[in-house]
Amino acid sequence: MASRLPAVFLGHGNPMHALARNDYTEAWRRLGEEMPRPRAILAISAHWYGAGTAVTVAAAPRTIHDFGGFPRELYQVQYPAPGDPTLAGRVQQLLAPLAVDSDDSWGLDHGTWSVLCHVYPNADIPVVQLSIDATKGADQHFEIGRMLAPLRAEGVLILGSGNVIHNLRMYAWGRLSQEPYDWAVRFENKAMDLIRASDHAALIHYEALGQDAALSIPTPDHYLPLLYVLGARHADDAIRFPVSGIEGKALSMLGLKVG
Ligand code: ZN
Repeated sequence: MASRLPAVFLGHGNPMHALARNDYTEAWRRLGEEMPRPRAILAISAHWYGAGTAVTVAAAPRTIHDFGGFPRELYQVQYPAPGDPTLAGRVQQLLAPLAVDSDDSWGLDHGTWSVLCHVYPNADIPVVQLSIDATKGADQHFEIGRMLAPLRAEGVLILGSGNVIHNLRMYAWGRLSQEPYDWAVRFENKAMDLIRASDHAALIHYEALGQDAALSIPTPDHYLPLLYVLGARHADDAIRFPVSGIEGKALSMLGLKVG
């Protein structure tokens, strides 16, 4: 095993990717094959977003089908990866004195399993989820990511799952391959430039990036997982964008691998 695992952000997009085989899912699969095998995964998903910070402690987390109106077969997907209560405790220790609740009611939501079912299809690597506290500012989410960085040297893959651009009001349901909006292309390029330049301050204070950012991030839930991954970044990490593409005109599938 490498001395320090990468940290990865994946744009999950439509939950139906869980059942699909396409350029995105193939890129996710290749990522799983090329990375050193982690001993566990800490997932930060856009879909566990509420008041307070919590970590899953169940030994066998359930697969949550946290969406409505999709075909029956999507509700039948199970991702039976074990949990890792010891890792949950380690997360609480690293984040102290921040209070992190032990949660045994959540599980793995589709932000986590719809990508992991491609990255690690055998579901044999323990997974712990960390919730995103909606009452905290973007700078605090970046700081939590920084505090979690030591996990990378302990065989843990830090996985953020969201979307850099996530505007469902302008999302072209059913016409996923249409040309993206100009503002979406501009903002994705801007975000990639800022990541390459390690300009984390600009990415944290994204509201200052103007109208393109406002359209791309109408609510912060899908963007914030990126800040956890950037927080866990070391100055000497290589960066790569293993997944790219904008689906439905207004949703970026951009993926980022650091380290
Ligand atoms: Zn989502």
